[in-house]
Amino acid sequence: MYRYPLSTVYNENIHINKSVPALQVMASRGCPYKCSFCSSYLTWGTYVKYRPAQMVVDEIVENIKKYSINDFHFYDDNLMLNREWVIEFLNIVEKSSYSFNWICLSRPEIIFKNSDLLFRMKKNGCKGFELGFETYSPEVYKKMNKKNNYDSFFKAYSILQENDFEMIEFLIMGFYIGETIETLYETYLQLKKFMKGKNLFTYSRYFATPFIGTEFYQIHLQHGHNLFDGNRYKYAVYLNYMPDSFLDFCGVGYYIDANSLELLCFAYGELDHIIYRKEFNQINNKLTPSQFAYLFNRFMSERKTVRDLNRYIADVLELDNILCVEEYVARMIEFSVRLGAMRR
Ligand code: SF4
Repeated sequence: MYRYPLSTVYNENIHINKSVPALQVMASRGCPYKCSFCSSYLTWGTYVKYRPAQMVVDEIVENIKKYSINDFHFYDDNLMLNREWVIEFLNIVEKSSYSFNWICLSRPEIIFKNSDLLFRMKKNGCKGFELGFETYSPEVYKKMNKKNNYDSFFKAYSILQENDFEMIEFLIMGFYIGETIETLYETYLQLKKFMKGKNLFTYSRYFATPFIGTEFYQIHLQHGHNLFDGNRYKYAVYLNYMPDSFLDFCGVGYYIDANSLELLCFAYGELDHIIYRKEFNQINNKLTPSQFAYLFNRFMSERKTVRDLNRYIADVLELDNILCVEEYVARMIEFSVRLGAMRR
Protein backbone atom coordinates (compact mmCIF):
# COMPACT_ATOMS: atom_id res chain seq x y z
CA MET A 1 0.00 0.00 0.00
CA TYR A 2 1.29 3.47 -0.93
CA ARG A 3 2.03 5.55 2.10
CA TYR A 4 1.69 9.30 1.71
CA PRO A 5 4.44 11.42 3.25
CA LEU A 6 3.27 12.59 6.67
CA SER A 7 3.57 16.23 5.67
CA THR A 8 0.84 15.76 3.06
CA VAL A 9 -1.47 13.79 5.35
CA TYR A 10 -1.31 16.13 8.35
CA ASN A 11 -2.15 19.57 7.13
CA GLU A 12 -1.45 21.19 10.48
CA ASN A 13 1.45 22.92 12.15
CA ILE A 14 2.26 25.00 15.19
CA HIS A 15 3.42 28.03 13.19
CA ILE A 16 7.02 28.07 14.36
CA ASN A 17 8.09 25.45 11.84
CA LYS A 18 5.43 25.10 9.20
CA SER A 19 7.15 22.27 7.35
CA VAL A 20 6.92 19.98 10.38
CA PRO A 21 3.57 18.15 10.56
CA ALA A 22 1.53 18.54 13.72
CA LEU A 23 -1.55 16.81 15.05
CA GLN A 24 -4.66 18.40 16.44
CA VAL A 25 -5.69 17.46 19.94
CA MET A 26 -8.71 18.44 22.02
CA ALA A 27 -8.84 18.23 25.78
CA SER A 28 -12.15 20.03 26.28
CA ARG A 29 -15.38 21.05 24.65
CA GLY A 30 -17.54 24.06 25.35
CA CYS A 31 -17.11 27.77 25.93
CA PRO A 32 -18.93 30.01 28.42
CA TYR A 33 -18.39 33.35 26.63
CA LYS A 34 -21.12 33.52 23.98
CA CYS A 35 -19.44 35.93 21.58
CA SER A 36 -22.12 37.06 19.16
CA PHE A 37 -20.60 35.54 16.00
CA CYS A 38 -19.43 32.25 17.50
CA SER A 39 -21.12 28.89 17.08
CA SER A 40 -18.85 27.03 19.48
CA TYR A 41 -21.11 27.33 22.52
CA LEU A 42 -24.10 26.38 20.35
CA THR A 43 -22.31 23.19 19.29
CA TRP A 44 -20.67 22.17 22.56
CA GLY A 45 -22.59 24.13 25.17
CA THR A 46 -21.47 26.75 27.68
CA TYR A 47 -20.44 24.20 30.31
CA VAL A 48 -16.84 23.22 29.59
CA LYS A 49 -16.12 19.51 29.86
CA TYR A 50 -12.52 18.27 29.99
CA ARG A 51 -11.13 14.84 29.23
CA PRO A 52 -8.91 13.44 31.99
CA ALA A 53 -5.43 14.96 31.65
CA GLN A 54 -3.85 11.49 31.73
CA MET A 55 -5.99 10.39 28.77
CA VAL A 56 -4.88 13.42 26.74
CA VAL A 57 -1.19 12.82 27.52
CA ASP A 58 -1.59 9.11 26.69
CA GLU A 59 -3.06 10.06 23.31
CA ILE A 60 -0.19 12.42 22.60
CA VAL A 61 2.42 9.85 23.64
CA GLU A 62 0.78 7.19 21.50
CA ASN A 63 0.97 9.50 18.48
CA ILE A 64 4.61 10.27 19.22
CA LYS A 65 5.38 6.53 19.36
CA LYS A 66 3.32 5.53 16.33
CA TYR A 67 3.94 8.43 13.95
CA SER A 68 6.99 10.22 15.36
CA ILE A 69 4.94 13.42 15.48
CA ASN A 70 6.21 15.82 18.10
CA ASP A 71 4.14 18.93 17.48
CA PHE A 72 0.57 19.21 18.80
CA HIS A 73 -1.99 21.91 18.26
CA PHE A 74 -4.64 22.11 20.97
CA TYR A 75 -7.94 23.05 19.37
CA ASP A 76 -9.76 23.75 22.64
CA ASP A 77 -11.46 27.14 22.62
CA ASN A 78 -9.78 28.10 25.90
CA LEU A 79 -7.42 25.38 27.11
CA MET A 80 -6.42 27.27 30.28
CA LEU A 81 -9.98 27.87 31.42
CA ASN A 82 -9.71 25.08 34.00
CA ARG A 83 -6.61 25.88 36.06
CA GLU A 84 -6.66 22.59 37.97
CA TRP A 85 -6.75 20.64 34.71
CA VAL A 86 -3.74 22.56 33.35
CA ILE A 87 -1.76 21.92 36.57
CA GLU A 88 -2.56 18.21 36.41
CA PHE A 89 -1.62 18.09 32.73
CA LEU A 90 1.72 19.79 33.48
CA ASN A 91 2.40 17.42 36.40
CA ILE A 92 1.90 14.42 34.10
CA VAL A 93 3.99 15.88 31.27
CA GLU A 94 6.80 16.67 33.72
CA LYS A 95 6.93 13.06 34.88
CA SER A 96 6.67 11.64 31.36
CA SER A 97 9.78 10.46 29.54
CA TYR A 98 8.35 11.99 26.35
CA SER A 99 8.61 15.64 25.49
CA PHE A 100 6.67 17.43 22.76
CA ASN A 101 5.90 20.89 21.40
CA TRP A 102 2.42 22.34 21.62
CA ILE A 103 0.37 25.51 21.21
CA CYS A 104 -3.11 26.42 22.41
CA LEU A 105 -5.88 29.00 22.16
CA SER A 106 -6.69 31.33 25.03
CA ARG A 107 -8.07 34.71 26.03
CA PRO A 108 -6.12 37.59 27.59
CA GLU A 109 -7.87 37.56 30.96
CA ILE A 110 -7.34 33.81 31.33
CA ILE A 111 -3.63 34.32 30.66
CA PHE A 112 -3.51 37.08 33.32
CA LYS A 113 -5.28 34.89 35.84
CA ASN A 114 -2.89 32.01 35.26
CA SER A 115 0.30 33.91 34.52
CA ASP A 116 2.11 31.96 37.26
CA LEU A 117 1.65 28.81 35.14
CA LEU A 118 3.25 30.26 32.02
CA PHE A 119 6.81 29.40 33.03
CA ARG A 120 5.88 25.75 33.61
CA MET A 121 3.89 25.62 30.38
CA LYS A 122 6.85 26.87 28.42
CA LYS A 123 9.22 24.50 30.21
CA ASN A 124 6.91 21.65 29.22
CA GLY A 125 6.83 22.33 25.51
CA CYS A 126 4.29 25.11 25.05
CA LYS A 127 5.60 27.18 22.16
CA GLY A 128 2.91 29.78 21.97
CA PHE A 129 -0.67 31.00 21.96
CA GLU A 130 -3.42 31.88 19.56
CA LEU A 131 -5.71 34.72 20.64
CA GLY A 132 -8.94 35.98 19.06
CA PHE A 133 -8.00 39.65 18.55
CA GLU A 134 -10.61 40.07 15.78
CA THR A 135 -10.38 43.85 15.18
CA TYR A 136 -8.75 47.01 16.45
CA SER A 137 -12.01 48.95 16.20
CA PRO A 138 -13.62 49.43 19.66
CA GLU A 139 -17.04 49.89 18.04
CA VAL A 140 -16.86 46.71 15.97
CA TYR A 141 -15.35 44.85 18.91
CA LYS A 142 -18.23 45.89 21.17
CA LYS A 143 -20.73 44.57 18.65
CA MET A 144 -19.02 41.19 18.83
CA ASN A 145 -19.79 40.90 22.54
CA LYS A 146 -16.34 39.52 23.27
CA LYS A 147 -16.47 40.80 26.88
CA ASN A 148 -12.96 42.04 26.50
CA ASN A 149 -11.12 45.00 25.03
CA TYR A 150 -8.13 45.27 22.81
CA ASP A 151 -5.95 46.82 25.53
CA SER A 152 -6.01 43.41 27.17
CA PHE A 153 -4.44 41.92 24.03
CA PHE A 154 -1.52 44.34 24.25
CA LYS A 155 -1.01 43.31 27.87
CA ALA A 156 -1.32 39.59 27.07
CA TYR A 157 1.14 40.02 24.21
CA SER A 158 3.66 41.66 26.59
CA ILE A 159 3.28 38.94 29.20
CA LEU A 160 3.79 36.21 26.61
CA GLN A 161 6.84 38.01 25.28
CA GLU A 162 8.27 38.43 28.76
CA ASN A 163 7.86 34.69 29.24
CA ASP A 164 9.77 34.05 26.00
CA PHE A 165 7.09 32.17 24.13
CA GLU A 166 8.27 31.63 20.60
CA MET A 167 5.01 32.29 18.81
CA ILE A 168 1.95 34.47 19.26
CA GLU A 169 -0.86 34.37 16.74
CA PHE A 170 -3.82 36.74 16.58
CA LEU A 171 -6.99 35.63 14.83
CA ILE A 172 -8.64 38.43 12.86
CA MET A 173 -12.23 38.71 11.74
CA GLY A 174 -12.88 40.96 8.77
CA PHE A 175 -16.17 42.47 7.59
CA TYR A 176 -18.17 42.16 10.77
CA ILE A 177 -21.04 44.63 11.31
CA GLY A 178 -19.49 48.11 11.46
CA GLU A 179 -16.39 47.27 9.39
CA THR A 180 -15.10 50.03 7.10
CA ILE A 181 -11.92 50.69 5.16
CA GLU A 182 -10.77 52.69 8.15
CA THR A 183 -11.32 49.92 10.71
CA LEU A 184 -9.61 47.39 8.43
CA TYR A 185 -6.71 49.77 7.95
CA GLU A 186 -6.34 50.41 11.69
CA THR A 187 -6.46 46.70 12.46
CA TYR A 188 -3.66 45.82 10.05
CA LEU A 189 -1.67 48.84 11.19
CA GLN A 190 -1.74 47.52 14.74
CA LEU A 191 -0.77 44.03 13.62
CA LYS A 192 2.32 45.45 11.94
CA LYS A 193 3.35 46.97 15.29
CA PHE A 194 3.11 43.56 16.96
CA MET A 195 5.34 42.11 14.26
CA LYS A 196 8.26 44.17 15.51
CA GLY A 197 8.66 41.99 18.61
CA LYS A 198 11.42 39.42 19.03
CA ASN A 199 9.16 36.38 18.90
CA LEU A 200 7.30 35.10 15.85
CA PHE A 201 4.11 37.08 15.54
CA THR A 202 1.61 35.87 13.01
CA TYR A 203 -2.08 36.30 12.28
CA SER A 204 -4.85 34.44 10.50
CA ARG A 205 -7.55 36.44 8.80
CA TYR A 206 -11.08 35.10 8.67
CA PHE A 207 -14.27 36.67 7.40
CA ALA A 208 -17.37 37.27 9.51
CA THR A 209 -19.79 34.42 8.85
CA PRO A 210 -23.37 34.45 10.10
CA PHE A 211 -23.71 30.92 11.44
CA ILE A 212 -27.29 29.82 12.04
CA GLY A 213 -28.35 30.24 15.65
CA THR A 214 -25.81 32.91 16.55
CA GLU A 215 -26.78 36.40 17.62
CA PHE A 216 -24.91 37.66 14.54
CA TYR A 217 -27.11 35.48 12.33
CA GLN A 218 -30.26 36.88 13.92
CA ILE A 219 -29.34 40.50 13.17
CA HIS A 220 -26.98 40.34 10.21
CA LEU A 221 -29.59 41.14 7.54
CA GLN A 222 -30.49 44.37 9.34
CA HIS A 223 -26.91 45.58 8.81
CA GLY A 224 -25.87 44.09 5.48
CA HIS A 225 -26.49 41.10 3.24
CA ASN A 226 -25.21 37.66 2.33
CA LEU A 227 -23.05 37.43 -0.76
CA PHE A 228 -24.48 34.01 -1.51
CA ASP A 229 -27.79 32.58 -0.36
CA GLY A 230 -27.70 29.19 1.31
CA ASN A 231 -24.92 27.59 3.29
CA ARG A 232 -22.53 26.52 0.57
CA TYR A 233 -20.00 29.27 1.35
CA LYS A 234 -20.73 29.72 5.03
CA TYR A 235 -17.13 29.14 6.01
CA ALA A 236 -15.07 31.87 7.54
CA VAL A 237 -12.44 31.57 4.78
CA TYR A 238 -14.97 33.05 2.33
CA LEU A 239 -16.15 36.63 2.27
CA ASN A 240 -19.77 35.58 2.53
CA TYR A 241 -21.27 38.60 4.30
CA MET A 242 -21.16 42.26 3.32
CA PRO A 243 -21.94 44.88 6.00
CA ASP A 244 -23.61 48.11 4.89
CA SER A 245 -21.00 50.02 6.87
CA PHE A 246 -18.35 48.89 4.38
CA LEU A 247 -20.41 49.71 1.30
CA ASP A 248 -21.43 53.13 2.57
CA PHE A 249 -17.98 54.19 3.62
CA CYS A 250 -16.43 57.11 1.81
CA GLY A 251 -12.70 56.54 2.01
CA VAL A 252 -11.55 60.06 1.28
CA GLY A 253 -7.89 60.25 2.26
CA TYR A 254 -7.26 56.58 1.42
CA TYR A 255 -5.60 55.56 -1.80
CA ILE A 256 -4.09 52.46 -3.33
CA ASP A 257 -0.59 52.57 -4.75
CA ALA A 258 -1.21 51.16 -8.23
CA ASN A 259 2.33 49.85 -8.77
CA SER A 260 2.41 48.13 -5.39
CA LEU A 261 -0.96 46.48 -6.01
CA GLU A 262 0.12 45.31 -9.46
CA LEU A 263 3.31 43.79 -8.05
CA LEU A 264 1.53 42.18 -5.12
CA CYS A 265 -1.13 40.62 -7.36
CA PHE A 266 1.63 39.28 -9.60
CA ALA A 267 3.58 37.90 -6.63
CA TYR A 268 0.60 36.31 -4.87
CA GLY A 269 -1.34 35.13 -7.91
CA GLU A 270 -5.02 34.35 -7.54
CA LEU A 271 -6.80 35.31 -4.33
CA ASP A 272 -8.00 32.19 -2.55
CA HIS A 273 -11.52 31.12 -1.57
CA ILE A 274 -13.52 33.19 -4.02
CA ILE A 275 -17.26 32.52 -4.23
CA TYR A 276 -17.79 33.97 -7.73
CA ARG A 277 -14.60 32.64 -9.27
CA LYS A 278 -15.82 32.75 -12.87
CA GLU A 279 -16.96 36.37 -12.62
CA PHE A 280 -13.90 37.27 -10.59
CA ASN A 281 -11.68 36.05 -13.43
CA GLN A 282 -13.83 37.92 -15.95
CA ILE A 283 -13.32 41.14 -14.02
CA ASN A 284 -9.59 40.44 -13.76
CA ASN A 285 -9.40 39.98 -17.52
CA LYS A 286 -10.94 43.39 -18.13
CA LEU A 287 -9.59 45.38 -15.21
CA THR A 288 -5.93 45.22 -14.25
CA PRO A 289 -5.00 45.72 -10.59
CA SER A 290 -3.55 49.14 -11.37
CA GLN A 291 -6.74 50.15 -13.21
CA PHE A 292 -8.71 49.05 -10.16
CA ALA A 293 -6.41 51.18 -7.99
CA TYR A 294 -6.96 54.25 -10.22
CA LEU A 295 -10.73 53.75 -10.09
CA PHE A 296 -10.68 53.32 -6.32
CA ASN A 297 -8.54 56.44 -5.89
CA ARG A 298 -10.78 58.47 -8.18
CA PHE A 299 -13.97 57.45 -6.41
CA MET A 300 -12.59 58.03 -2.92
CA SER A 301 -11.13 61.41 -3.81
CA GLU A 302 -14.53 62.41 -5.25
CA ARG A 303 -16.06 61.51 -1.86
CA LYS A 304 -18.00 58.62 -3.31
CA THR A 305 -18.61 55.37 -1.47
CA VAL A 306 -17.55 51.78 -2.01
CA ARG A 307 -21.15 51.11 -3.08
CA ASP A 308 -20.80 53.78 -5.82
CA LEU A 309 -17.59 52.17 -7.00
CA ASN A 310 -19.26 48.74 -7.14
CA ARG A 311 -22.16 50.07 -9.20
CA TYR A 312 -19.79 51.79 -11.61
CA ILE A 313 -17.70 48.65 -12.16
CA ALA A 314 -20.84 46.53 -12.64
CA ASP A 315 -22.18 49.02 -15.23
CA VAL A 316 -18.94 49.45 -17.17
CA LEU A 317 -18.24 45.72 -17.29
CA GLU A 318 -21.94 44.94 -17.91
CA LEU A 319 -22.19 42.56 -14.99
CA ASP A 320 -25.74 41.83 -13.81
CA ASN A 321 -24.69 40.28 -10.54
CA ILE A 322 -23.67 43.10 -8.19
CA LEU A 323 -22.74 40.54 -5.53
CA CYS A 324 -19.77 39.27 -7.52
CA VAL A 325 -18.58 42.87 -7.94
CA GLU A 326 -18.97 43.43 -4.19
CA GLU A 327 -16.88 40.36 -3.55
CA TYR A 328 -14.22 41.47 -6.04
CA VAL A 329 -13.96 45.05 -4.74
CA ALA A 330 -13.97 44.08 -1.05
CA ARG A 331 -11.38 41.36 -1.54
CA MET A 332 -9.13 43.69 -3.54
CA ILE A 333 -9.46 46.38 -0.87
CA GLU A 334 -8.75 43.93 1.94
CA PHE A 335 -5.78 42.54 0.01
CA SER A 336 -4.43 46.07 -0.56
CA VAL A 337 -4.80 47.01 3.09
CA ARG A 338 -3.38 43.75 4.42
CA LEU A 339 -0.30 43.78 2.22
CA GLY A 340 0.44 47.48 2.41
CA ALA A 341 -0.66 48.80 -1.00
CA MET A 342 -3.33 50.96 0.67
CA ARG A 343 -2.05 54.27 2.05
CA ARG A 344 -3.57 57.32 3.68
S1 SF4 B 1 -15.05 33.30 20.08
FE1 SF4 B 1 -13.85 32.08 21.52
S2 SF4 B 1 -14.34 32.96 23.53
FE2 SF4 B 1 -15.95 33.66 22.11
S3 SF4 B 1 -17.62 32.15 22.33
FE3 SF4 B 1 -16.30 31.50 20.62
S4 SF4 B 1 -14.85 30.07 21.50
FE4 SF4 B 1 -15.75 31.23 23.17
